Amino acid sequence: MPSALVIGAGLAGAASCVALARRGWQLTLLDAADGPSLGASALPVGMLSPHVTRAPTPLSRLCALGVSDMRDQLERLVPPGRGWQPCEVDNLGHDPGRWPAALVRPSALVEAWLDECRRRTTLTTRWQSPVDRLVNRSTPDQPLWQALNAEGLVLAEAPVVVIAAAFGSHALLTHENSPMAPEALPLRPVKGQMSLAALQSEPLAERPQRNNGVFVPVYEDAGLPPQWPARIWAMGSTYERGDNSSHVNAAAHERNAHSLESISPAAALRQRETAARGELLGWAQVRCASLDRVPMVGAVPHVQDLQALMQQAGARRGRVPMADTPRWPGLFMLGALGSRGLTLAHAMGELLARLIEGEDPNLEADLLRALDPARFAWKQARRQPA
Ligand SMILES: Cc1cc2nc3c(=O)[nH]c(=O)nc-3n(C[C@H](O)[C@H](O)[C@H](O)COP(=O)(O)OP(=O)(O)OC[C@H]3O[C@@H](n4cnc5c(N)ncnc54)[C@H](O)[C@@H]3O)c2cc1C
Repeated sequence: MPSALVIGAGLAGAASCVALARRGWQLTLLDAADGPSLGASALPVGMLSPHVTRAPTPLSRLCALGVSDMRDQLERLVPPGRGWQPCEVDNLGHDPGRWPAALVRPSALVEAWLDECRRRTTLTTRWQSPVDRLVNRSTPDQPLWQALNAEGLVLAEAPVVVIAAAFGSHALLTHENSPMAPEALPLRPVKGQMSLAALQSEPLAERPQRNNGVFVPVYEDAGLPPQWPARIWAMGSTYERGDNSSHVNAAAHERNAHSLESISPAAALRQRETAARGELLGWAQVRCASLDRVPMVGAVPHVQDLQALMQQAGARRGRVPMADTPRWPGLFMLGALGSRGLTLAHAMGELLARLIEGEDPNLEADLLRALDPARFAWKQARRQPA
């Protein structure tokens, strides 16, 4: 039975696990935290919705695939009212319209996927296991990677590793003697804060409203962790680029209230009154985004070998296709889900499993190139003087 080590137990790691478990892989899942879904995927409620743009972009096309794919997962695996509820969303600003959507608590999906893994295969989980670095112990016949902690102890090893550690992936892949140079992996932290509170009266809108942020007038979830009321309204979220912290603060609440004014002045007033009474709750975490805002899914490039390949190609380096980029055997990543993890995680996990198994990726070639983790390194290597 093939075996893989997955680093990161949020939406990306759990989606990778379930796609591999459905293909019969044995899995070890490591996370630095005390359990699954404690990073950005601890989001109390998020929106699964299309990414509407005037002209199609790689991200809008991927989201169009992702929405129906994720909706199917929710319907099969998570009871409505215990982790999600179907809805529509009104886009009020640019590209106005009403779109089918769903309100989802990501941890419900992560739990459902990990349960499915346990039913199908052996899933070993290790919490409180921060990986400090990966060491390549491959031989010419067999790839082998070891995940080491800061003391140099081997936490786990496997021939195939999936790095799904969100912004933590950057340190893992660009550590000294690691597979990639930092400039080949332009990942950025983007802190987000959501404002929320118990809903004690009638909702202030019929359905979620999106303008600069999303106002969720009501979300009910019998499975919400005990720190949250079971019936809430929410407004979010802020975008704080370059901020890798997760503390909740009053200034970010006020930015949410300001954005809410353009959606529902009554809801903005209620948010400020709730804050004044000391009853406003908040949740903040860090999204991980790539420079072009498209996720990174696939085999990790071997940047030194790529540079050597381009040097060999000399003046014809412009003709070296991205697909020819040399890769590290057995080393894969799924990350940079940005603010679209709910929409994209399952479709991207499925794509990654297809790439690992060498199956037909079942995706248009230009989208595959848009997602390729080699794209930045490849563009840089082409620009180097011949
Ligand atoms: C405020 C806010 C609002 C959002 N709203 C929405 C929304 O409405 N719709 C939507 O689709 N998305 C939304 N998102 C984004 C969504 O939450 C993310 O895209 C998604 O959760 C990312 O999943 P992930 O698995 O990549 O990352 P995470 O859930 O962050 O998981 C990464 C995991 O890796 C672990 N890790 C990191 N480094 C290491 C290491 N060295 N060793 C071991 N483990 C490590 C971490 O502990 C963590 O558990 C929002 C995010 C925020 C912050």
